[in-house]
Amino acid sequence: MRKTYKYRLYPSKTQEAKLLATLEVCRILFNSCLVDRKCHYESTGKGLSRIRQQEILAADKKRVLLLKEVHSQVLQDVLFRVDRAYQGFFRRLSEKHGKTGYPRFKSEGRYDSITYPQEPGFKIEEGKLKLSKIGHLKIKMHRAVAGQVKTCTIRKDGNHWYTCFSVEYEPEKRPVPTKAVGIDVGLKSFATLSDGTEITNPKHLRKAEAKLKRVQRSLSRKKKGGGNRMEAKQAVAKLHRKVRNQRLDFHHKEARKIVNNFGLIVAEDLKIKNMVRNRHLSKSISDAGWGNFLLLLASKAEEAGCRFEKVDPCHTSVNCSCCGSKVPKTLASRTHRCPSCGLVLSRDHNAAINILQRATAGTAESYAWGEPALSGHSLNQEAMLLAAW
Ligand SMILES: [Zn+2]
Repeated sequence: MRKTYKYRLYPSKTQEAKLLATLEVCRILFNSCLVDRKCHYESTGKGLSRIRQQEILAADKKRVLLLKEVHSQVLQDVLFRVDRAYQGFFRRLSEKHGKTGYPRFKSEGRYDSITYPQEPGFKIEEGKLKLSKIGHLKIKMHRAVAGQVKTCTIRKDGNHWYTCFSVEYEPEKRPVPTKAVGIDVGLKSFATLSDGTEITNPKHLRKAEAKLKRVQRSLSRKKKGGGNRMEAKQAVAKLHRKVRNQRLDFHHKEARKIVNNFGLIVAEDLKIKNMVRNRHLSKSISDAGWGNFLLLLASKAEEAGCRFEKVDPCHTSVNCSCCGSKVPKTLASRTHRCPSCGLVLSRDHNAAINILQRATAGTAESYAWGEPALSGHSLNQEAMLLAAW
């Protein structure tokens, strides 16, 4: 199984300059690959494969000196990224989601990571991270890596640098809990479980998010091109990073608790949920939080051998979880009161029970444990993206 470890890097001035130059070369390569694919398609009606682009890159490397400054596998990884962007584009086309979104060109500063796909392009040596063509970087290994490191991604986040190691490891076998749970992510509390547990957003996170909104407003009032704006921009980036880290930490802890207690975990398919709710709600900060939380939960569930399922959340807050009658309510009404069977529950608790029942069709007791519902491969990729986020 794969797991991601993230560590802070402290490059020297020279190393940082090299890293920035590498990002820029990769960004230009990424954009030119998009152009090549587009032109090729327009002139021939056929796609350009990654293998063909690799041949073009090899030829270019003989002429373009800048390309020689970057480790060859880092360049090859850029081609993989282009390919993945295209696969996503084709997938969206076939799914007809409405928004298809052609792969986007990366503007200056928007390309913020490079990947060394295998050793010895990177290596941990005497407490430092050795990167080919960059040097020996100071790294803060706040915890040990357990397992075999497969890939190494270097990311710029504001003015900080991080490395993410994707590690292959054998999860230890533990008995899977037999209890099942449904999870309703909500507006009032962060999430509500079908056993009635409410997970509230921690206060420090709420405070940081409120502050973030404030500094963002202040940034929007600053004049373009001014020094004040640059400063405000950096303050926003710093706070963004802080909020993101706090939120991720909170998500890790809450997901861990759920996975330790339940063997079947049922959540809402948020893609559908967002479509339902968007008419009423502006995109709030917590919106993004739910999706990431569920990804993390899915990956932890897989690791622990639990089963994770997603269900259509349609009407989960309307239906009565006891008798099934429809009890319409506005977004403001927080309590579910069923006139047919007399059930009184908090709105989110009722929804969480409905979510659980949707996966088990009311047979939670005799639920047969099967293979995890999500394939390990796609899940790991998502989880890796998340951790590297
Ligand atoms: Zn009822």
